[in-house]
Amino acid sequence: MRKTFKIFLLLILAFNFSLSQILSPEKFFGFKMGEDKKLIGWGEIYSYFNHVDKNSDRVIVEELGKTTLGKPFILAIASSEKNIKEIQKLKSIQKQLAKPYGINETKAKELIRDGKVFILITMNIHSTEIAASQESVELIYEFATRNDDEMRKILDNCVILMIPSLNPDGQQMVVDWYKKYVGTKYEASPMPWLYHYYAGHDNNRDFHFFSLVETRLTAKVLYHDWFPQVVYDQHQMGSNGPRFFVPPYSDPVNPNVLPEIMALTNLFGKYIVFDMIQKGFKGVVTGGRFNAYFQGTMSKTPLWHNRVGILSEAASARIATPIYLPYGSIEGLGDEIPDNNLSNNNLNPFEEGWWRLRDIIDYEKAATYAILNFSAINKEKILWTFYSANKKSIEKGLNESPFAYLIDLNSQHDPNSAIELLKRLQIGGVEIYKAKKSFSVGNTIFSENTFIIPLSQPCRAFIKDVMEVQNYPDIRLYPDGPPKQPYDVTAWTLPLQMGVKVFELNEKKEIPMEKIENVEFGQSIIQGKGNYLVFERRFINSYRLVNLLLKEGLKVYYIAKGEDNLKGSFVVKNEKNVLEKIRNLSRNLGIEMKLTDGIVDTNLVELKKKIIGIYQPWITSMDEGWTRLVLDSFYFDYKVLHNQDLKEKKFISEIDVLILPSMGTNAIVDGREFMGSQRVDAPQMPEEYTGGIGKQGVENIKECVKNGGILIALGEASNFAIEQLGLPIRNVLRNVSTKEFFAPGTIVKLKVDNSNPIAYGFENYVPAYMINPIAFSTTSYSDKVSVIATFDGDDVLMSGYLLGESRIKGKPALCEVPYEKGKILMFAFRPQHRSQTWATFKFLFNALIN
Ligand SMILES: [Zn+2]
Repeated sequence: MRKTFKIFLLLILAFNFSLSQILSPEKFFGFKMGEDKKLIGWGEIYSYFNHVDKNSDRVIVEELGKTTLGKPFILAIASSEKNIKEIQKLKSIQKQLAKPYGINETKAKELIRDGKVFILITMNIHSTEIAASQESVELIYEFATRNDDEMRKILDNCVILMIPSLNPDGQQMVVDWYKKYVGTKYEASPMPWLYHYYAGHDNNRDFHFFSLVETRLTAKVLYHDWFPQVVYDQHQMGSNGPRFFVPPYSDPVNPNVLPEIMALTNLFGKYIVFDMIQKGFKGVVTGGRFNAYFQGTMSKTPLWHNRVGILSEAASARIATPIYLPYGSIEGLGDEIPDNNLSNNNLNPFEEGWWRLRDIIDYEKAATYAILNFSAINKEKILWTFYSANKKSIEKGLNESPFAYLIDLNSQHDPNSAIELLKRLQIGGVEIYKAKKSFSVGNTIFSENTFIIPLSQPCRAFIKDVMEVQNYPDIRLYPDGPPKQPYDVTAWTLPLQMGVKVFELNEKKEIPMEKIENVEFGQSIIQGKGNYLVFERRFINSYRLVNLLLKEGLKVYYIAKGEDNLKGSFVVKNEKNVLEKIRNLSRNLGIEMKLTDGIVDTNLVELKKKIIGIYQPWITSMDEGWTRLVLDSFYFDYKVLHNQDLKEKKFISEIDVLILPSMGTNAIVDGREFMGSQRVDAPQMPEEYTGGIGKQGVENIKECVKNGGILIALGEASNFAIEQLGLPIRNVLRNVSTKEFFAPGTIVKLKVDNSNPIAYGFENYVPAYMINPIAFSTTSYSDKVSVIATFDGDDVLMSGYLLGESRIKGKPALCEVPYEKGKILMFAFRPQHRSQTWATFKFLFNALIN
């Protein structure tokens, strides 16, 4: 009865407001956003945005596409009614300012007079940093309904773009998990799976490489459709430091970003501090911990495209559960803000008190309004900076070397990876050209298959930064002390990560060329005549084709003996209508195949589809997630295994290949990770998600390998293999301090023994990604251990920071260790790091298919 009455009441309300009224979030959801222990999930956020869209002339909501798990990924556009009516015209002005080819100052001034500041606000990329997603509905409500002078000025001068969650899948997961356990002893416990299906927290390390669908959708907003010149990305950090961080960022500064763009970003940050202090907010700091050297994150990547990039980091509650911070418990932020004392970076310290979800929303909203007000007040200056920085970048590319990067497909070991690199650059807004005919530079002749990336583009800084070698500065904690931990990695040079040969053009040269809108792999080619179709492993798409063929039930072989230049190549016998099938399956894979009769059947080994298992810990491993992305995108099938699966005996006979992602021994065995001191009252996970594979799991892995299985130990998991399986191998860097050896995300050179089947398809040298202190040496006189790759004996460092190079020179980096009937493959480096290291994927693929 009561229920019926409630529904009746709701109906009356709905009727009253249905004509044009927009319900406030509080009315729509029945509680105020940020109320203790209350959250709305993505489904609710999505329906609220649609509600506002339907009822407001100031707001448009667009679905940009679907997320990894199929949820709607949306962008809201908010501005004055007049601006929304003229949005196409404003977009066109914006595009002209973003790509000001041939636009002189007079024309630019006209555009700026009529144009608006486009501000992109992105939220909740890290799903446990939940406040921003709750804040989003309040903001859109206020943009749609407030009519005061402040809002009028903002809406008249700005076009606000808002992505209420950069990771809707994870937003919903976190809300579901929290709601499931709220009120129990597991309230606010960590989730036992990654909040981005593939990347977890690393979903914010993808903005220079664009592997994830969410990153690609966002890149379309940034670099293809809207060109916002101010970008604000909202995050949360730990609980016991300052309440709120905004720029200026800490050092080091990336040399490719234009100084006026960094200066304007600093100005925005300091304005936020000023505005928030005036409004009574405490603990708003600048300059601590977060730097802008690495461009893989959402908040920073705009800087390389001449946009303002603002990160905010609010202190966290426990999801929606409040915490209390006693006097004296507040710490500093990074080395720059060592404590919570009054300083220029911390002008109004927060000293003690409750901290709740609502506080975070209030801080984030205050910063948002500071940015909007500052933009509205300074429209001309901001647009002029955008225009002139883009213009300057175009001119710099014409007058300063390097003038272009040249990629000749004909000189690539793997043309597929070269095309993939070009495709990624295009997602990042880079314009790509192709030569109209062959040409030469000095003594080097380039074929007509050469792609040209001129540096004379607005995003010159981006192009240069991802294409060149990183010289990360040597910053020590104190003179002669250990190096300071960089905020993230120190190397990302895309051609090295992907194994692509690039020629840097350092002289002015006219090359006849045409613009290519969408670079593609192109058709595969079948040449020659004969009974055997052969395709080489150097084409990375060959692995895609092999997996497609195996799924179709076709027989695929590889050449195990005989002709050296074709050894390892894949072979399909030309029977019945197999060629037609292959033509279909290899469409758009860009593989060169040839038919021949010169193959001896006895030299062939048939590829058998193996059962691949990948270990997924409940304490979550991003390396595990990225590995799945690589396997999925190359069409490998696999099973995901949890602690319980490994503890069961049947696992031994069910799996042919087991992949252990990069994790420490304790993490694998006990499910423990040492991440600083844990608070005594930290929320605990439900029992079924605690612990590791245990002793039984270790024994089962041993049995599995002894019976003929293959264990692949990636990065840190090599330590697990050494320590738990008793191998005749040692990690020479196991107890070496960071003062002696440090490679925090560094590209190193490996010498490869490509006669080993694990290295089929490789050249003699390959760049590899090093992030864990691991290098091997054998501890027995057995000749059974195969060394497949070693750190080069001369020049190890290729890009980024490396301290203690001499400790790894010539040391094994990839070993195969026999273990009764099976074997263990030990990787000192990360062959599939963040799904970016295309150059070394094949080590993993070969291990999975041979
Ligand atoms: Zn974050």
